[in-house]
Amino acid sequence: MASSSSLPIQWPEGAPTFNYQGGCHCKKIRFQFEHPEIYSMPALSCNCSMCASRGYIFVYTPQDKFKLTQGSEDEISQYTFASHIVQHRFCPTCGTAIGVLVPSYGYVGINARTVDGIDLERLQKNLTKVNGRELTLSTTEDGGELKPSVSWGNTGRQ
Ligand SMILES: [Zn+2]
Repeated sequence: MASSSSLPIQWPEGAPTFNYQGGCHCKKIRFQFEHPEIYSMPALSCNCSMCASRGYIFVYTPQDKFKLTQGSEDEISQYTFASHIVQHRFCPTCGTAIGVLVPSYGYVGINARTVDGIDLERLQKNLTKVNGRELTLSTTEDGGELKPSVSWGNTGRQ
């Protein structure tokens, strides 16, 4: 089951959560998600080819704590590559990369750049940087111990 303990960046035990909202540029896709106070935790930045091209800065939430408030799952375009574990999701109309869905691990990575009212400068003061370019990944299918690298799923394990 999805829980905050399976997230690439775990939530502090018992941390209160808040509702955050965000969406794409044209507002076709809007979402809300639960997360501890967003500046109280590190966001994740990775230098792999995909993350660099998207400009992702990730915050994570369990899949069941992420809900669309406008648009439907069917309306979101997605792109996968390599192991196809990670669904890179974007608006088909305006192209905004809203983040990733990783169904096999039950979490969503939200591109923090798409969160309403986000102070990116403040968020970027507390980044966990992942050297995705040089990672060789071993993904665990059993939902065991997850490291940040697992979320990238770009090892070419086909
Ligand atoms: Zn859009």
